[in-house]
Amino acid sequence: MSQEIKNEFAYMDFLFKDYQSLWTVDLKTGKLTLCKMNEVIAIPGTIQYATEKEEFECVRQWYIQNYIVEEHRKRVERETQLNKIVEGISNGDTYVVEYRRIYNNTINYNQLYFAKAEEENGQIVRFYMGFRDVDSMKREELDDLTGLFTRKSFIRHAEELIAKDPDISYSILLSDFVDFKEINEKYGIKIGDEIIKCAAKQFRSSARHDLMVGRYGGDQFALLIKTDELRQLIQNHISYELDFPPHLPKVVVKYGIFERITKDMRITVACDCAHIAVNSIKHTYGQSYAFYDNALSEALKKQRIIEKDMHQALAEGQFKVFYQPKHDTKTGKMVGAEALIRWIHPVYGFMSPADFIPLFEKNGFIAESDLYVYRRTCENLKRWTDLHLHTVPISVNASKVTFENRNVEEEVSEMLSASGISPDLLHIEITESLMSDDVDDLINRLSALRNKGIRIELDDFGAGYSSINMLSMLPLDVIKLDMCFMEQLKDPKRAKVLQACVDLAKNLGYSTVSEGVETFEQHEFLTEMGVDVIQGYYYSKPLSEEEFEKYLRDVKTGGEYVDN
Ligand code: C2E
Ligand code: CA
Ligand code: CA
Repeated sequence: MSQEIKNEFAYMDFLFKDYQSLWTVDLKTGKLTLCKMNEVIAIPGTIQYATEKEEFECVRQWYIQNYIVEEHRKRVERETQLNKIVEGISNGDTYVVEYRRIYNNTINYNQLYFAKAEEENGQIVRFYMGFRDVDSMKREELDDLTGLFTRKSFIRHAEELIAKDPDISYSILLSDFVDFKEINEKYGIKIGDEIIKCAAKQFRSSARHDLMVGRYGGDQFALLIKTDELRQLIQNHISYELDFPPHLPKVVVKYGIFERITKDMRITVACDCAHIAVNSIKHTYGQSYAFYDNALSEALKKQRIIEKDMHQALAEGQFKVFYQPKHDTKTGKMVGAEALIRWIHPVYGFMSPADFIPLFEKNGFIAESDLYVYRRTCENLKRWTDLHLHTVPISVNASKVTFENRNVEEEVSEMLSASGISPDLLHIEITESLMSDDVDDLINRLSALRNKGIRIELDDFGAGYSSINMLSMLPLDVIKLDMCFMEQLKDPKRAKVLQACVDLAKNLGYSTVSEGVETFEQHEFLTEMGVDVIQGYYYSKPLSEEEFEKYLRDVKTGGEYVDN
């Protein structure tokens, strides 16, 4: 190395202390010459390759491909073209290009800096090029596990970027894994971390757009993207499952999108909205992304009101119990009914369970409302018996939460004795969701109920992934075939599955109920299949207490009740 170059680099040394290597580039020949390197932080491979090739353009392309994170490549490629560099240093400035570099599976912040070295007739003929490691400076900005921006730095950088050019519109995507907590519990934190790392890598590399990625929370990633490129990103890169190495468990990923961040909006607000959007589809099978919109915000407002009002509603008797008759297929006679809750809200009016049951299940209030239905039903049964009506057994629904939070066996038993009605007038409908790791405990609890004379019905059988094992393991009396079969009766394969379910239930000694029966054809078909009992609009919609009482009277006086 000549004395002359060493002196020149004294100036560069002063400017950039933590360099990895310093070079000169001859613009006439394109030749690249190494001047200095810092053994501690230089990457040996790059030094060797560059000194062998000696050619700026060739080394530039190779470096960009091998050492720069994918989402920065395009920009760095653009910004390091010779004409750009010359333009950047022509008035005596240093020209800096910043990017993130991958090396040895870690990601560092790097800067490439350029300065004028030599002029001939007012034209730059040689310039300096230095690689500078700015990682230590940036370290607190990056997440240790993934090398991505932390939440704080993501927010700051995103706000800076948005403020830079008011004409460009940006949108936010927030990703979230479904049931990640369970995955962590089942496979351990180490696998959980590996999943996070793999996901981070994919978010970085699958994004061929100018995209900023940050780790927003435990298993959440935030992506800032130009709104113009949003649709393309969704089309090409958003999929339900990430592409993980085979040793990792499958994880479902979902996205919430806030489109078009307005200039006066905090980025955290946009992220919160995207979060709300992703939460709204967490348990919607097959839907991998959702946009935040006004309908969603309205729905959330309604949810908040519901949660605020529910306790008072219960105290004030706003919840009503409706009863839907069940009829015997052979005799046409009413042989039971199902209790279904309704909420007559002072503002929203008549609300069906779909509006509030899922929320009650989430916040645990379902245990209160279920017990209210049980109590009310016992009181009604007592009243109807006292009136000598054609009283039939009533089935009440039991949510998983109710079973978890309350001693259903004891409380129901107390209600029965308090009202003095026969336990065989009460049935409890359970669903598969009650199945937990402790099957023995569930068996014991159901047996306790049955020993008291209460019958157990397995609801919604055939929906989702019903397990045939449940039929033989749990102490049951009745199998309720799910409504989904009704739409599929015309499909010969599904009809065969239904027939097999009916036969299986019968062989195990259970009686069968078909729900959601609306037409005469369905009724005939199911009767032929050997289904014992039918519930559905074909006979009657769920009726208010008063209507149902009338129904009971009519049954008593008129015998079979078919037409409503
Ligand atoms: P489910 O237990 O499967 O109840 C049957 C649902 O089907 C009821 O909806 C009923 O109104 C409806 N249905 C009855 N016949 C027909 C028909 O012919 N065609 C159609 N399309 N639908 C019919 P509902 O009352 O809206 O209840 C929905 C779900 O909410 C229930 O499904 C049950 O899972 C839950 N639910 C209702 N009341 C309670 C309750 O008191 N406690 C608990 N834990 N869950 C309840
Ligand atoms: Ca039910
Ligand atoms: Ca059902």
